[in-house]
Amino acid sequence: MSELAYPYEAPASQALFDRAAAVTPGGVNSPVRAFRAVGGTPRFMVSGSGPYLTDADGREYVDLVCSWGPMILGHAHPEVIAAVQEAVARGTSFGTPAEGEVALAEAMVERVAPLEEVRLVSSGTEATMSAIRLARGFTQRTKVIKFAGCYHGHVDSLLAAAGSGVATFALPDTPGVTGAQASDTIVLPYNDLEAVHAAFAAHPGEIACVITEASPGNMGVVPPLPGFNQGLKDACAANGALFVSDEVMTGFRTSRAGWYGVEGVVPDLMTFGKVMGGGFPAAAFGGRADVMAHLAPAGPVYQAGTLSGNPVATAAGLAQLRLLDDAAYEKVDAVSAQIQGLVTEALVKEGVAHTLQTASNMFSVFFTDRPVRDYEDAKAQESFRFTAFFHSLLSHGVYLPPSSFESWFVSTAHDERAVQRIADALPAAARAAAEATA
Ligand code: PLP
Repeated sequence: MSELAYPYEAPASQALFDRAAAVTPGGVNSPVRAFRAVGGTPRFMVSGSGPYLTDADGREYVDLVCSWGPMILGHAHPEVIAAVQEAVARGTSFGTPAEGEVALAEAMVERVAPLEEVRLVSSGTEATMSAIRLARGFTQRTKVIKFAGCYHGHVDSLLAAAGSGVATFALPDTPGVTGAQASDTIVLPYNDLEAVHAAFAAHPGEIACVITEASPGNMGVVPPLPGFNQGLKDACAANGALFVSDEVMTGFRTSRAGWYGVEGVVPDLMTFGKVMGGGFPAAAFGGRADVMAHLAPAGPVYQAGTLSGNPVATAAGLAQLRLLDDAAYEKVDAVSAQIQGLVTEALVKEGVAHTLQTASNMFSVFFTDRPVRDYEDAKAQESFRFTAFFHSLLSHGVYLPPSSFESWFVSTAHDERAVQRIADALPAAARAAAEATA
């Protein structure tokens, strides 16, 4: 495929971006979408089909973002669309309980053994915020341990040293978060159990919970070292704190039962989003029934939502989960491995120092020759090489996350044609990365 097939300019996207900038801060509704880490014009997409996105200039891209995880069956999967259309025709929101939310909760509980009860919400941020409140209400304690480079949504108390967009823009702290909120958060290096033990020793009886990404994907993919998650669980149990595993990204993606299905460490509370919503705003938190019993109206910890358990969102999520059988995960894992192999081959051929890290079918490339075990390691990579790599792939019709601090995502819809497009684009991208200068 020649460079000319995908001219770099994107006039229609640029015109939309200019319009957007006049009415929306930075022209986007979620910061990383703005391409600030890599420069250039963010692509405004008009449609998605299977593994492809089409932008306002009519160009088609193989999508390696998959809406940051949710679209594990590809875009506009016919059975998900049919379920949505059927649900929409019956009305879009009732403000009452409805069967769809029960069915979605049942499907989740059936897949993830530690999930005894579930409360549906509308975003991953709401899920982690509510889980933290519940952990504090349950334990009657205030402090929370989180790890640098882990992102749990834009919850005030969890933004300290967060990954994802906070990492992309190197924001040290966010104005608007009060000292009181920040001072109840203890930020520790990821994969460092000694630091966790020291924090518990320094704050006896004060720590409500430890929250961690089940396998982090928001500083790039940095899986837990063997025994790390179990060590967190044991430290929490020994100190009367709750272990909260954030599976918003990994849930129903890294296996049928998410990262829990890979590792088997049993959390007290878990959070979910992305895949379980089938591309709609649906998320959840849940776990031990005795802890969840503290939630209103059963218990005193208040939490609510006008659109929680929305009938269209639950129909989409349920349709997606029903299609995610063992064969679907085998397919996603296989295509992920195939793309990982192609990326490695291209970068090795050009002599580009890199480390490709995986968490089942999630993966990302760090432009460093050292293993990345925590946020400091992730920040030490040569991100300028990623910028060159990203733009070369974009110009050849392959859409990567526009930041080196994000996981890449694939779907069951990534077929041979899509993989071939990536294979064709990689040699030039690897060369661009090799030739890039800081
Ligand atoms: N937790 C994790 C691990 C995430 O990756 C994200 C979003 O990327 C969130 C929480 C927040 O979810 P949302 O963007 O739906 O608020």
